[in-house]
Amino acid sequence: MGIRGHNPPSMDYAAKLTEIQAQGLYRQLQTVAGPQEARIQLGGREVINFCSNNYLGLATDPQLAEAATKAILNYGWGSGSAALIAGMMSPHQELQQALADFFSVEAALLFNSGYHANIGAIPALADPAGAIFSDSLNHASIIDGCRLARCPVHIYEHGNTDQLESLLKQHSYTGQCWVLSESIFSMDGDIAPLAVLGTLAQQYNCGLYLDEAHAVGFYGPEGRGVWEAQGGTAPELFVRIGTLGKAFGSYGAFALGSRTLMDYLINHARSFIYTTALPPAVAAASAAAVRMIQQEPQRRIQLQKNLGLFEEYTERCVSSPIIPWLVPGNTAVLAADRKLLDAGFYAHAIRSPTVKVGTERLRITLSAMHTEEQIAGLAKALKEL
Ligand SMILES: *Cc1c(COP(=O)(O)O)cnc(C)c1O
Repeated sequence: MGIRGHNPPSMDYAAKLTEIQAQGLYRQLQTVAGPQEARIQLGGREVINFCSNNYLGLATDPQLAEAATKAILNYGWGSGSAALIAGMMSPHQELQQALADFFSVEAALLFNSGYHANIGAIPALADPAGAIFSDSLNHASIIDGCRLARCPVHIYEHGNTDQLESLLKQHSYTGQCWVLSESIFSMDGDIAPLAVLGTLAQQYNCGLYLDEAHAVGFYGPEGRGVWEAQGGTAPELFVRIGTLGKAFGSYGAFALGSRTLMDYLINHARSFIYTTALPPAVAAASAAAVRMIQQEPQRRIQLQKNLGLFEEYTERCVSSPIIPWLVPGNTAVLAADRKLLDAGFYAHAIRSPTVKVGTERLRITLSAMHTEEQIAGLAKALKEL
């Protein structure tokens, strides 16, 4: 208990929550009963899930479950300690090697999640005498990584490489600078001009840090992401981030780059150093996903077909499986979310300030699991909104 007169009054958290509720910004957990298939049991009703990042349907694939089960029998469940102590086990090492081979890079480094990767790698790579140049729509985990970096951060307008270049011209630093971008943006599904970013980074002697969370596993002819498919020349310092929680259907994340940069992250990324390593079975399931992505191109092809079907049924063009369906206003977008649920479809409402005021939306994601009938049904329900 505080001493009256010395301590300020306690914060009224319940009142704050009421305030959030009045603004239509209250967030609530919902439980999915059963597996993450196209059809899910959500809060007691059956709906078609159009908001999962399980783009290839790997999250419920028996091969992943089997790989995990085998690993549990061989290694037990927990890893027991941080990777640098004794937590790095054979499945982690094998997964890192599989990722480095798949992406044809010198080295890959496992992080516990994409969030961990960004809040650890960005501050580790940032130079206090340099700066960061970051796209205005970069993911919250990149923003948090920037907040932890002890250097100036310049934000350029989303996708505006002219503005990025003028910022690079305008500010000169004695230390290392980095350009940060996603490849497929998580809320808009649009694609960053990667070739230009690569050229600018090279020209202005910056490193390029690319978060391919929503692209690795399915984008491009081999599923190696947007950089592989349409990137240009990488600058000398080049780091890519991918998550294993989305298209790979598992959990965890990885950084890709030179041996030197990965060794640097092992020594400096606090979210890598000071956390327990992933359970070995999780790494084993991820390694199975890496194999399947190489052996089963039909999953990417099916996803691509489904994008075409969505375009056909809604008469809209899409650039990736992330489709923002704008319903401006927080109240309006929540009502649309509920109406869609009543029709049997789940596309999560994204409110401001997560997205800019006036661009509130249903964030629709397509998966290889969806059938034509389900996509046609969603299109019809969207038209009726
Ligand atoms: C989802 C996402 C992350 C976080 O990845 P997790 O593995 O889910 O923590 C990071 N960056 C971007 C761009 C994302 O969309």
